[in-house]
Amino acid sequence: MRIPEHTIEEIRSSVSIVDIISSYVQLRKRGKNFIGLCPFNQEKTPSFTVSEEKQIFHCFGCHTGGNVYKFLMEYKSISFIEAVKEVAEIVGISLNFEEDRFESAN
Ligand SMILES: [Zn+2]
Repeated sequence: MRIPEHTIEEIRSSVSIVDIISSYVQLRKRGKNFIGLCPFNQEKTPSFTVSEEKQIFHCFGCHTGGNVYKFLMEYKSISFIEAVKEVAEIVGISLNFEEDRFESAN
């Protein structure tokens, strides 16, 4: 199963990483960024940072970081493809994985 690069990018740019992550992690705004308690390591002071501007997250405690797909992969222990599918569903973009075999579908 292969998803074209431009589709992966289109899906990613259709969501805000802040919206996605805030449904799993409680975030609060600090300056340009959002911060919260890292879901990947035990901590009492928030070092988990989400940048809306850059559309990435980074934890200064455990050094986990990346884009929205990386977050979902790590958080839910799912594959990259599954993470893309999950975001695609949220934004309502349909993935035509099998367009080669079903050319006339839809
Ligand atoms: Zn962390």
